[in-house]
Amino acid sequence: NGADAAALWRARIRDVPDHPRPGVVFKDITPLLADAEAFGTAVEAFADIVARHDVQAVLGLEARGFILGAPVALRTGIGFVPARKAGKLPGPVHREAYQLEYGTAEVEVQHDALAPGQRVLVLDDVLATGGTAGAAIRLVRRCGAEPVAFAVLLELGFLGGRERLAADFPDLPVEAL
Ligand code: AMP
Repeated sequence: NGADAAALWRARIRDVPDHPRPGVVFKDITPLLADAEAFGTAVEAFADIVARHDVQAVLGLEARGFILGAPVALRTGIGFVPARKAGKLPGPVHREAYQLEYGTAEVEVQHDALAPGQRVLVLDDVLATGGTAGAAIRLVRRCGAEPVAFAVLLELGFLGGRERLAADFPDLPVEAL
């Protein structure tokens, strides 16, 4: 059941103190990916979100959003679209910058990656400050498509990502497994 699945996901996500910088507790999902039951039930839970929101494409964020998002897209019979760090995708692309603790980062999606009006689930592993998610949601809109939900394995509630997304995208559901 759902509670058992969540307990297993929790047990398979490892806290790594001071990675990649001192003071950050990194949520390492590689043990979850290496466990077929944990990975499989997570994909099923994301697939339920796809069904609930009548999603027509999964936009996965580089890099762990690729690993999680591609099987969800396949499982639900819809396409997968990568949102990549700047300079990786052959153009033309839309680009969105977002704030990091020090400096900025940029993500890109190809111009023709999504169809006008297409219902898109934006998917990543971790919601922290919400900067990455916000940039990805704006990219979906710039493609003329419709972001219908944002989904992650886990959120770091104390960083306020959910509140920030609610302020910028009031009607967008944020789903954390
Ligand atoms: P943010 O833009 O601050 O919401 O950060 C979310 C992005 O950074 C996601 O792509 C995560 O993979 C990554 N991330 C941020 N903080 C962590 C963390 N503590 N552990 C693992 N990944 C993180």
